[in-house]
Amino acid sequence: MAAQSRKQQQTRYNILMISSEMVPFAKTGGLADVVGSLPHELARLGHDVRVVIPRYYAIDPGRYSLEVALGSMGVWMGETLEWCMVYSRDMGDGVTVYFIEHNGFFGRDGLYHDAAMNDYLDNPRRFGFLSRAGLQVAVDTGFAPDIVHVHDWQSAAAAAYLKTWFWDNPILGKAASVLTIHNAAYQGIYPKHHFDYLGLGWNTFHADAFETFDHINLLKGGIWFADLVNTVSPGYAREITTPHGGFGLAPYLSNKGNSFYGILNGVDYSDWSPENDRQIPARFSASDLSGKLQCKEALQKHFGLEVNPRVPLFAAIGRFVDQKGYHLLAPAIERALNEMNIQFVILGSGDPWLQDIFGSMPGRYPGRAGSHIGYNVALSHLIEAGADFFVMPSLYEPCGLNQLYSLRYGTLPIVHATGGLDDTVENYNEASGDGTGFKFWHPTVDSLYYTIGWANSTWWDRPGHMARMITTAMSQDYSWDRSTAEYIAAYEKAIANKRAYDSWPR
Ligand code: ADP
Repeated sequence: MAAQSRKQQQTRYNILMISSEMVPFAKTGGLADVVGSLPHELARLGHDVRVVIPRYYAIDPGRYSLEVALGSMGVWMGETLEWCMVYSRDMGDGVTVYFIEHNGFFGRDGLYHDAAMNDYLDNPRRFGFLSRAGLQVAVDTGFAPDIVHVHDWQSAAAAAYLKTWFWDNPILGKAASVLTIHNAAYQGIYPKHHFDYLGLGWNTFHADAFETFDHINLLKGGIWFADLVNTVSPGYAREITTPHGGFGLAPYLSNKGNSFYGILNGVDYSDWSPENDRQIPARFSASDLSGKLQCKEALQKHFGLEVNPRVPLFAAIGRFVDQKGYHLLAPAIERALNEMNIQFVILGSGDPWLQDIFGSMPGRYPGRAGSHIGYNVALSHLIEAGADFFVMPSLYEPCGLNQLYSLRYGTLPIVHATGGLDDTVENYNEASGDGTGFKFWHPTVDSLYYTIGWANSTWWDRPGHMARMITTAMSQDYSWDRSTAEYIAAYEKAIANKRAYDSWPR
């Protein structure tokens, strides 16, 4: 281990990341958080990291101090030469971000769909182009990467371009590729008439690579071509390689052998720590929780709840999509509100029927339930800080970030034991008081309801255990240090895999 970390300190990699999201520029989910953190952590260790993302309409060049890096850049696609412009921003810590300006593809309000949630029909072209353009940035700026790190279906095709178009390119020919899967349910499946445009060659349109039921599958193609594939927790890696897991990808992921595994996401504790969070009304720590009570009071006031420190406050934040299990939460929490002395707040948006149910809850439980339908980062900090319990009934969860934030803020998570939730929350042991949260194994309304009841009875009947669990939860360390070291080890393995691949006789 010591030898390995010495080696990691010595090797300085050129890393090109291509992504469709990155905090603080464009975000719809956890992918943006990871790409917003990992490059900086890598740069801190001395690696040279360049990130390529689209210049969406909402990324205002003036506001973000973008500079023109390439006035025009030609990108060969299968059928045509696309022209674009490239902005850049030096982040000041060894990370440079490039923004691909192509108004036809990215000059839109939404990242992947319009306001009515309709997928943009040209998404395979938009993100095939991003994948190809990201590599072109390396060529045109003379940046020879050791690693091309791509994320999800949106940039997965870059792993294929490397091995098909750029295999003998002086800048890119030696680069190894790593594909990180943040959610295997989203694979980028589109009609095959877009395939000529992508220019990947019909010989890659087969079931092991880009083809799924006669459609293009961008993620599967990336899995085939990448030198190493990872997902964002060991538990989720296991789940998606089980026979019925992975939304059809299990055999293809299993075929990667020990070049597919899970690396848990880290948390940016400079943003998410109660000791120094500037977005909450009072700071607190495990040794002095008085600030948490002030945050609870502020949260109760914000949502018009009865201001009372002695009522347990349950909370949820997230996208209202099937994956997150809010269709279980709605009836379970409603029943709990009817039968228990609790309060509940929720922040999120998505499925209209869930927006209706949660949006109307304050009217049905005045002073006891609050909801905010929308996206609000400051409010998400206040909720994490002020609540007592945080509910995540996700049907599956690749990693999950909110339970990690909750642990840090002493807000005990109540989770379905799946993927990253199972990996990071330790179930309460009623005999000893050990544990960091409350788990249930069957994603049903009843299981969730009874687990909420279990947390509630612990709050009222076993305050000593509550205090102990809060201290244990707050001392958990899910910082990026460990995950970054694992990514560097993954890069080393990918480079070794690429060398072995290059040495095969052809
Ligand atoms: P996913 O990526 O599947 O949405 P994660 O738990 O990995 O789930 O990450 C979700 C991130 O988005 C967290 O940082 C969470 O706080 C944030 N988030 C989700 N919904 C909202 C919302 N309505 N307002 C503010 N932040 C939100």
